[in-house]
Amino acid sequence: MKIYQEKRDFTRTSEPAGEIADGRGSRFVVQKHQARNLHYDFRLEMEGVLKSWAVPKGPPVEPGVRRLAVQVEDHPVDYIDFAGEIPEGQYGAGTVEIWDSGVYKLEEHTPDRLEFELKGKKLAGGYVLVRTGGKNWLLLKRKNK
Ligand code: MN
Repeated sequence: MKIYQEKRDFTRTSEPAGEIADGRGSRFVVQKHQARNLHYDFRLEMEGVLKSWAVPKGPPVEPGVRRLAVQVEDHPVDYIDFAGEIPEGQYGAGTVEIWDSGVYKLEEHTPDRLEFELKGKKLAGGYVLVRTGGKNWLLLKRKNK
């Protein structure tokens, strides 16, 4: 959260400054972020923050498709509703819109692998996030399940 806050000037951007939330949530969001490069920010509410990955090509909607997902800094839970403009000159300047949202059920959680079931409008079913090295992960949709 500190990294998130240090990168931003909350007197200039309307993004939430973020307080550490307590309790465990089970919501997820995908924010389409038209910054210098278009990407999709995939965020899971977990351990009082939003664990976050930038997915350049967007999360897969079909099984068998793997997408690079680069882990980025944890975001505050109230970022889950954020949509709008991040001003020019600010970190991530550009337009954020909610591409999908819903809830998820965590099935497996190790430092290098997350398995979960998503229930969103566009994304539904079993997904896996597996770390391939450092901040790089792959996000894929499982077959069936
Ligand atoms: Mn982003």
